[in-house]
Amino acid sequence: MINEKMYGLGDEPSVIRELFAYGLARKAEIGAENVFDYSIGNPSVPAPVLVRDTMEELIAGDPVALHAYSPAAGLPEVRQAIADSITQRYDFPATAAHVYMTAGAAAALAASIAAVTHPGDEVVVVAPYFPEYRTWIEAAGCTVVEVPASVPSFQPDVEALAAAIGPKTSAVIINSPNNPVGAVYTRESLEALAAMLRAKEEELGRPLYLISDEPYREITYGAEVPWVPALYARTIVCYSYSKALSLPGERIGWVYVSDTAPDGDELSVAIAGAGRALGYVCAPVLLQRVAARCVNEPSDVAAYAENRRILTEGLASLGYEYVEPDGAFYLWVRALEPDANAFSERAKECELLIVPSDSFGVPGWVRLSYCIARDTIERSMPAFAALKESYDN
Ligand code: PLP
Repeated sequence: MINEKMYGLGDEPSVIRELFAYGLARKAEIGAENVFDYSIGNPSVPAPVLVRDTMEELIAGDPVALHAYSPAAGLPEVRQAIADSITQRYDFPATAAHVYMTAGAAAALAASIAAVTHPGDEVVVVAPYFPEYRTWIEAAGCTVVEVPASVPSFQPDVEALAAAIGPKTSAVIINSPNNPVGAVYTRESLEALAAMLRAKEEELGRPLYLISDEPYREITYGAEVPWVPALYARTIVCYSYSKALSLPGERIGWVYVSDTAPDGDELSVAIAGAGRALGYVCAPVLLQRVAARCVNEPSDVAAYAENRRILTEGLASLGYEYVEPDGAFYLWVRALEPDANAFSERAKECELLIVPSDSFGVPGWVRLSYCIARDTIERSMPAFAALKESYDN
């Protein structure tokens, strides 16, 4: 018999994917240049040349060795290269045994959640949040506890998080730079969060894990992105090259369990066990090698920075309210009516594809992905003006 829960997940429409699919159909109908698609977070900057050069060099070698299985956790030299990079970049001694290679941050998160929870536990998330967290938490038999971020800063609300943590809590998930709001959590916020978690561990007499989802770590506009394991020992970092190196379809990332976690060695083994249980073993091996070679390759954020400037200046001049983004490539804009779904529908009439906030766990906002062609942003301004005008009259 088909598992109903799984059927439900497969059948459940993702608002973002639906909007993206609508956009493809609409572009075929009226011409791609007439649709302003801000729906999906697909990087618009090409992967660094070093990625292509490395791939070319690798595929020129022995194909049998190149495409062979790696150990379940990844190639030892790749895990070592990542541990070395962590040690060097964050002045934080990291060991290869604590690095587990995965098919992107998605697999890293699903394995991390499975490794630190038991069915019936609660996992706390900061709302708005990446919608797939709910899928992975519920698949592990756990419950999502949503805690709204502080508005207007969209930093974590540490007091509200403390109030939400109880005897069933096993983990808190944070995401900075943040999808969908673009906030980058400050050192001060993270230190307060870490102090609160330590106090709660003491009070509850059980470990609390901090899962730090970091696919946008490199995509910032000057803000500091503190290294979370240096602030809180029981941290699990979920990283990916999807955005940093513009390789979302190639599916490569990693989990790093802080070497300072008191139970870090056991936790690393449990991550490997969760990866095994979920079938997330031997991450794409060509990409493992590429990741190792490109581990310190800088991300090219110049185009996103320029898009961000054009979009925010344009929307500000039209009177839209938004959260100034310090990182990632999303703009969080206040809907012009309380129902964000209705606002997104009205935007479609102006050929603007913008994602309503409800799927991120909060009402009344929309998300714009500005990792798109600059020209599309420039040409979309009259559409944003028409949308605004339709509410003003
Ligand atoms: N976490 C966040 C916040 C994301 O935005 C994404 C992808 O957009 C992921 C995780 C999944 O990333 P990956 O493509 O590396 O699986």
